[in-house]
Amino acid sequence: MTRALPQFLDRHPDFIFDPEDFVRARWAIPVLERQYTDFLEKNFARGELWPATSDIEQWLAENAHLSYTAYRNHGCSISALPVFGKAELRADPAAYQDPTLDPHSTWQKDTTGSTGRPIAVLYSELFRLDILYLSIRKVFSRAGINAASHFPAVLSLSENERSGKWIKIDPLDQRSVIVHSVVDTTKDSSYIDAIALLRDLDSPCLSSKPSVLENLLQFACQGQPPQLHSIISGGSHLSDDLRMRLSTTFGCPVINVYGMTEVGIIASECRERYLHVDKSAFFVETIDESGSKVAEGATGELVVSRITNSAMPLLRYKTNDIGAVVTEECSCGVVGPRIIAFHGRKIQCYKLPSGSLFSPTRLNGFMPRFPMVEEFRVTQRRIDFFEFEVQLSSRFIDCSEIFSSISEFLRSVLPPEVSFRVVEQHFRPDSKFQRFRNNI
Ligand SMILES: [Zn+2]
Repeated sequence: MTRALPQFLDRHPDFIFDPEDFVRARWAIPVLERQYTDFLEKNFARGELWPATSDIEQWLAENAHLSYTAYRNHGCSISALPVFGKAELRADPAAYQDPTLDPHSTWQKDTTGSTGRPIAVLYSELFRLDILYLSIRKVFSRAGINAASHFPAVLSLSENERSGKWIKIDPLDQRSVIVHSVVDTTKDSSYIDAIALLRDLDSPCLSSKPSVLENLLQFACQGQPPQLHSIISGGSHLSDDLRMRLSTTFGCPVINVYGMTEVGIIASECRERYLHVDKSAFFVETIDESGSKVAEGATGELVVSRITNSAMPLLRYKTNDIGAVVTEECSCGVVGPRIIAFHGRKIQCYKLPSGSLFSPTRLNGFMPRFPMVEEFRVTQRRIDFFEFEVQLSSRFIDCSEIFSSISEFLRSVLPPEVSFRVVEQHFRPDSKFQRFRNNI
């Protein structure tokens, strides 16, 4: 593929290739290879149940946590640290960041914002490369897919237009590439372009979220579907029905993964479709509503710890996702923690008059674009009509101009087949607040 890169860029001039970034990644190759070996040893050999906890305890014992104000005053063991969530991270991100790090060697990635205002997460250079180049290898190994002879090209498809279109050569297998592209879910042509890209990449692995995969499937079925190596689905619930249709249409394995922008891929499926935690990097606990740990196998909120991102290590971070952790041997033969009864992020898409789906994640850019919006709620009142209730910060007396900009933005995001209205609202604090509702 490396030799074919200039031709790819000729055919797709809107994709960016950064040669400096490729050269910069070279230093990390031996470290990434070591980390991958470490992943294989810790996850597939019978050994410590939670090896990451030893690393974290050692990190605390060596006082590495003193650099981070959030962890400074809480003793030297994981259990002494308080759990915290998105609200705390959003309110004071600097408390979780290493202030001594050179800003030129860190990378900022924003969370999608599907549960609130996006959070700016800092990645160290090594962590960024780990996420970019090791994540897929780990997922393949877990799923029992042998990609040793030739690593496939990977196409990651996002709805977030700010994430950009780019291509990178994989430093660990320079015959392969990672391509990132964006689909505009309101435009059929965008899906047709994505299918053409999949054909062009010659049997790649496709990585995206269920709503994008669902829409892509509709267009792929209109002709001869492209040949795919595999499909990785993450970001929200993958239904059995969608999994089956993807697998039948593209004739390839479909692997579900559980990850977060803040910490990377926490767990991925084995060949028996159980979600195994990456125990070389993560410690996962389950807590009840009062914050107390629940027994193994009991359902609660998942809380994750990972220190391998030195720019922003997250210890005892509440995920907002519900599940249970079990540690007995899986039917795939591996002994290690697995997440069962997982009820994380069921993002319900809206069905439109044409039968296509509209994912609420398309509205992730809304709050960053309008910082004066404190909260909003979307209700589908009829199949072709939506209501947007918006709460502005109290400083804004004259809202007419803001509302007109909001309407303009929504018109650009919503499919033309639906209409909508924007109204002002003051939401009362309510733990059952649902941002995306359906009243039809
Ligand atoms: Zn398994």
